[in-house]
Amino acid sequence: MCFDAAMTLPTAQPWFRIRHAGDGLTQIDEPHVSPLLQANVWWLRGRDRDLVVDTGLGVGNLRIEVPGIAEANPAVVLTHGHLDHTGGAPEFDAVLAHPGDRVHDPLPGSLHRTALLDELLPGGAPANDDNPPLLVTAVPHTGYDPAAYRLRPPVAVYPVADGDVIDLGGRWFTVLHLPGHSPGTICLYEEATGTLFSGDCVYDDVLFDELVGSDVAAYVASMKRLLELDVQVVHPGHGDSFDGDRLREIGERYLATRT
Ligand SMILES: [Zn+2]
Repeated sequence: MCFDAAMTLPTAQPWFRIRHAGDGLTQIDEPHVSPLLQANVWWLRGRDRDLVVDTGLGVGNLRIEVPGIAEANPAVVLTHGHLDHTGGAPEFDAVLAHPGDRVHDPLPGSLHRTALLDELLPGGAPANDDNPPLLVTAVPHTGYDPAAYRLRPPVAVYPVADGDVIDLGGRWFTVLHLPGHSPGTICLYEEATGTLFSGDCVYDDVLFDELVGSDVAAYVASMKRLLELDVQVVHPGHGDSFDGDRLREIGERYLATRT
């Protein structure tokens, strides 16, 4: 494999794109990453503590570029164990995750397409894949070597289960265990406002249910459960937020292809 392409990558500073979404919510993503791995970090200010949902790839430094994100005793929740959601986890004192995914002992991951797809797809990377081999289009600082990327385990992982409640002080988010994309996929749901942080269970694009660890039957059951909730707004693992009507369209389209 040739890693020489990294030598010519530009430096992108800042690494993260930070957008304020209103009501104390901030959407953070990594624009210099392949769409395959370009995931959201959601940071919600709470009265007593903050909520951080997912942590990005771990290529850029969240704590430096997003001042304050680790200061209000945040509950840092990983929606599942894939690298684009967990890479920045070691920057926090502890994270919460469902034990169904290997968060505490992650696979190494890679910023090289073939190596990553060998890890994520049951049949390995497809032959004759003509997509760009490198999954970043820039580096966060001079000297950063994409070939040295390894997913590191969090400092501490506390398990969460379906029905657990995360209390920010006056706002309560319930953990929903919704396996299918991965065994340990969870969403966070605030019943009072119909707010859903959905991770990779639902976003407005093709849903992945054939990865290593995916389970189509479980995904179907999870989607049916999700569509029974009174959801007003979805903050997904990939792409921008959407409303409950769009959630139902995406969910029903998925179910139509799988049932
Ligand atoms: Zn995922």
